[in-house]
Amino acid sequence: MTLSELEILNHIQKTQNITKEELKVLLYTNDSIVTEELQKKAQQTAQQIYGNKIYIRGLIEFTNYCKNNCYYCGIRCANTKADRYRLSLEQILSCCETGWNLGFRTFVLQGGEDPYFTDEKVCQIVREIKERYPDCAVTLSIGEKSEESYQAYFDAGADRYLLRHETADEAHYRKLHPEQMSLSHRKNCLKILKKIGYQTGCGFMVGSPGQTIDTLYEDLMFIKELNPEMVGIGPFIPHQDTPFANEPAGTLDMTLRLLAIIRLIHPHVLLPATTALGTIDPKGREKGVQAGGNVVMPNLSPVNVRDKYKLYDNKICTGDEAAECKNCMSARMKSIGYEVVTDRGDYKA
Ligand code: SAH
Repeated sequence: MTLSELEILNHIQKTQNITKEELKVLLYTNDSIVTEELQKKAQQTAQQIYGNKIYIRGLIEFTNYCKNNCYYCGIRCANTKADRYRLSLEQILSCCETGWNLGFRTFVLQGGEDPYFTDEKVCQIVREIKERYPDCAVTLSIGEKSEESYQAYFDAGADRYLLRHETADEAHYRKLHPEQMSLSHRKNCLKILKKIGYQTGCGFMVGSPGQTIDTLYEDLMFIKELNPEMVGIGPFIPHQDTPFANEPAGTLDMTLRLLAIIRLIHPHVLLPATTALGTIDPKGREKGVQAGGNVVMPNLSPVNVRDKYKLYDNKICTGDEAAECKNCMSARMKSIGYEVVTDRGDYKA
């Protein structure tokens, strides 16, 4: 490690900011001492704020119908091979019951943009969950909606909202999405979510087709500007029935470097080690935590629909019951000195 590389790390940590030149060095250096030091600093930063506690979120993938046609995503509307399903209110509540008994205090309802789930239906689901489990947080991840809809879900009791921006670069956004979608609309949704008072999450895929150091730099600057409570990043993984079927996946190494950088420039963020990271490497989620992550999101969806919610190929844990996933996760985290806690796991300002 050269003096200048060490200076870069110290500078980022001190200023909680990064220049494009510094980003270039940290993403491209072949010096493993530098990348180890980067991750160590990020892990220490997370520990100073969140200790050795790992927050768990119970992920309920409640519909794989989607009206959008994103080029990277396996549940895009043009994928006629996708076997579509929706969970009923009763099925969703049953997932929550299982989850609550296992110690989950956050439920994440994620799905495609499915017009069947009207605002009325979404609000009913949120209200029923909050009524039964008032000590739990409800996170929604159901895409781009109007301000009125976001407000209605919030008034029904939703606490958090995940909406990855996917890329903060206009031209890159165009490469990933059909023309009906726009970056400005997506960014505006995020601004509205923050304004309403949600704990808000943005994020992006690492190694998505067309991503460059310049687009990544824009992603980091967007994170600084939005000031989100959560950031979700994971490797892009191709899905065989999408236009990106033959594109290369994002790498473990790049994802870990970016997780660490995000932790350093935005220290308090709730930062998951994602399922996609666990998919490209058997120890991906452990390594993600060791690079600054502090959240994991085991799956609570019923086993019979698990393999239908396929955003990308080879998704892990599609055959495991919720209890197995929780126990497996607790053991994995324990193996690296962390404790999965029964806690809502709110943002610590
Ligand atoms: N419809 C919701 C939820 C999307 S799925 C929404 O629009 O926010 C959640 C995330 O999975 C997406 O934001 C995207 O970043 C990620 N994803 C989709 N396809 C993927 C792929 N092929 N590889 C890795 N991640 C993918």
